[in-house]
Amino acid sequence: MPRVEDMPENVDICLKFCGTCPTYPGVLGESLFCARGKSSAPKPKQGCNCPQCDVQKKYGCTGMFYCIEGPCE
Ligand code: SF4
Ligand code: SF4
Repeated sequence: MPRVEDMPENVDICLKFCGTCPTYPGVLGESLFCARGKSSAPKPKQGCNCPQCDVQKKYGCTGMFYCIEGPCE
């Protein structure tokens, strides 16, 4: 089970970090990969902003590249 709650407040925070990430897939409607799981069209790894993200900290996650590897569990 993903531990991150899928809610608008977390999406807003996510878009500040995933939205400026070079690995961000940019698929319409996709974000909050730490809760919802991997992208339908992931890009090759070019860095990840998740370690700086407030959602990550709030839920005690320590991973990276959730858009490629799936949710924080
Ligand atoms: S940890 Fe990563 S995927 Fe999760 S909200 Fe933050 S930037 Fe988005
Ligand atoms: S999950 Fe990490 S690698 Fe993927 S777009 Fe968000 S910040 Fe970038």
